[in-house]
Amino acid sequence: MTDYKPPRVVFLIEDSLPNGRVGPDLTPTLWSLIERGGWRSDGGVSVLASSTYPNHATFATGVDVAAHRIFTNDVWNGSEFVCSSTVGPATSTIFDWAKASGRSSAAITGDTTMVGCMGARTADISWPPSGPLDDSIPRDCLGYPANSAVIEQLVDSGALETDLVFLHMNDPDSTLHLHGPDADMTIERIREIDDDLATVVDLLAPRWADTVLFVVSDHEQEAVNQDIEPIDLVVELDRAGLPGHAHNEGTVGIVYDSPGAAVIKQLGPIEDAVDLDLNDDGTAVTLAWSGPGRVFGRSNKTLAGQHGSPRTRTQVATVSGGHPAVAEMATFLAAKRPHATDYARLIAGLLDLSTP
Ligand SMILES: [Zn+2]
Repeated sequence: MTDYKPPRVVFLIEDSLPNGRVGPDLTPTLWSLIERGGWRSDGGVSVLASSTYPNHATFATGVDVAAHRIFTNDVWNGSEFVCSSTVGPATSTIFDWAKASGRSSAAITGDTTMVGCMGARTADISWPPSGPLDDSIPRDCLGYPANSAVIEQLVDSGALETDLVFLHMNDPDSTLHLHGPDADMTIERIREIDDDLATVVDLLAPRWADTVLFVVSDHEQEAVNQDIEPIDLVVELDRAGLPGHAHNEGTVGIVYDSPGAAVIKQLGPIEDAVDLDLNDDGTAVTLAWSGPGRVFGRSNKTLAGQHGSPRTRTQVATVSGGHPAVAEMATFLAAKRPHATDYARLIAGLLDLSTP
């Protein structure tokens, strides 16, 4: 190992990119990376909820939701549900490990709350800043920073010169939410988003020989069936006289201080449930999900695509780059379905980071 020179690691998340759409026709750039590197063709496995912030917190910490405490996009703070970005992960992050090991890091994300969710303020470079987004920044179809804005920040911020870059592109998530996973508009947009990836690859080219590039997604989406009435888990708990603090989100509902999954799954409209954590007093943090296409919460029905349940758990899992360690990473991904918890340790190993 004395000759080992750690790579520059770029971890690029294409939010909601469906694994089944990856191929030479729709995503030729990603496909050429896969051909030169490797992937897991049937995809990786997300944490539950299969939503954005729980999985990004896991990417950054290497632990499952019971440890970092971001079970869904919104979390219970003891008195109300708040965006998980205001709380952040409860465990240390890869950005902390990098800092403690003398390595530089950056997090450039297409979501104003993502930096907080990943605990990435300790990175040397992070974007966007918290607070309202500047009017001059281009937006995607749901108002998040466009991929072009993220790419511009990748260049302007100096992130390309750091040892570890987390790069998050929100555009596929917004597109699938707005149009649904199978719409013609979505397919066309996936093709265009692959061009954005090509731009990133061009920017990485000058140091390609030193680079390990992971391109992954955090979850998929499923089509919302507009003919089915949404579930309101708050109302369901009340009606059954059950305790707990419930919250509706996509195709899941979460209950803090819950009587447990065995009880929650008895509720009429619930397809199934699992305890994500058990409290000392015998209560649980329980995640419940609906049948196909049925959402929780009326506001979530305005969109054509949603996620959260085990049906949207598949992640894109690819690796490429010119560094010699790419072959080892490709072997790892191919050997078994990678779990979202795997990446932080893999990256820490590549960068020789000391981890807790
Ligand atoms: Zn997402």
